[in-house]
Amino acid sequence: MKVSSIVGVNFGDEGKGRMVDYFAGLYDYVVRYQGGDNAGHTVKNAYGEFALHLIPSGIFHENTINIMGPGMVVNLKSLDKEIENLRAGGIEVSPKNLKISHRASLLLPYHVQQDQEEEKRLKDKKYGSTKKGIAPAYGDKYMKKTIQLGELYDLDKCKEHFDDLVAYKQEVFNYDYDFTGIWEDLVALREKYLPYIVDVYDLFEEGQGKSFLLEAQLGAMRDVDYGIYPYTSSSSPLAAYAPLGCGYPKLKLDEVIGIVKAYGTCVGEGPFVGELTGEEGDRLRTLGGEYGAATGRPRRISYFDCVASRYGVQLQGADKLALTKLDVLDSLEKIPMIVAYKKGDFETKSFPYTPYLKDFEPVYKEFPGWGCDLSKVRNYKDFPKEAKMYVEYIEEELRTPISYISVGPERDALILRD
Ligand code: GDP
Repeated sequence: MKVSSIVGVNFGDEGKGRMVDYFAGLYDYVVRYQGGDNAGHTVKNAYGEFALHLIPSGIFHENTINIMGPGMVVNLKSLDKEIENLRAGGIEVSPKNLKISHRASLLLPYHVQQDQEEEKRLKDKKYGSTKKGIAPAYGDKYMKKTIQLGELYDLDKCKEHFDDLVAYKQEVFNYDYDFTGIWEDLVALREKYLPYIVDVYDLFEEGQGKSFLLEAQLGAMRDVDYGIYPYTSSSSPLAAYAPLGCGYPKLKLDEVIGIVKAYGTCVGEGPFVGELTGEEGDRLRTLGGEYGAATGRPRRISYFDCVASRYGVQLQGADKLALTKLDVLDSLEKIPMIVAYKKGDFETKSFPYTPYLKDFEPVYKEFPGWGCDLSKVRNYKDFPKEAKMYVEYIEEELRTPISYISVGPERDALILRD
């Protein structure tokens, strides 16, 4: 039995989806263990290009069972749309290869509205939410005020619970939202998705000895406890949460693969040391196609940040790393890297606590560019010495081996170093 977790080291968008897609065929189960449809895992393979929001990135592999774990919040309307898109691309999705935990929480349309309204109220202090209702849904989950998917089995009981939740919103919060049609839509979606809802704990128990790939959404910096709170997500994308969120708490991880991008990006608000706001940033954004997969928002850009990435690697407890999108840097003559933070005369390599982050500036070390196309290279020994220098410096700073390097979005544009 092998249990691996693929997690983001940075702010998300590191290329986790493409790495899960690459490895998924080797595992019996691929499990998403947290988050909702705010994820945008882009996968480019023989079937085409897909942005996965709720469905695990193992869906393209015939013999892989994909699980949406109890740690997730699920918008059934979004799921329905995502399944339609996959089917239009020739991918089979059925209760045979996709299962949803009966303990996952339902994200309802009023969560989306609450999210939008709160961002509007916050104005220039906004969190940078994707406005998909994720924070209100997790908020309700921990207030014990939402529906678990398994409740849909018994429609009468579920309706009673739903009515009580509506009363709670209206009476306690004077919440003035039109709830008409939400229940009816839910009943229609229930007809379609009831066969997908199972007790995944039982499923895993029966399948003793099987292998698991646990797929995170977002990255370490967005962890609700250890990230740049409140500019975080509302769940834990850390590997340590994976056994809990996947529906099998007794699982022990054999391996944590941290995904780290060859330069920095951040979507949404919050302090981001070394943000490139001028032409340099625009150039890198265009080269890397850095626009959000879930929202289309331009991502904020920086050079590679050793300080934040080392913190991310430590939070994830990563055993090995995949360095992605190295090819994006091909045309840069010089490549600066953030090796420390400074505030006046004070310099540090430790990641500061969030309220103090905005006072820090980056300290750069400059690397020569390699000036050639890496996208066709498949062997590390064929890398130009400048590219090796860049990779090996990151490896040393993060104190963790870089076992994989990706040089293109396609499934095979990957160099295996071990
Ligand atoms: P995720 O959310 O962590 O899965 O990452 P995203 O899907 O948001 O972002 C990764 C983007 O980079 C996707 O559009 C991928 O197709 C693309 N990508 C992944 N690896 C590489 C790579 O090595 N090179 C290039 N040029 N693009 C890549």
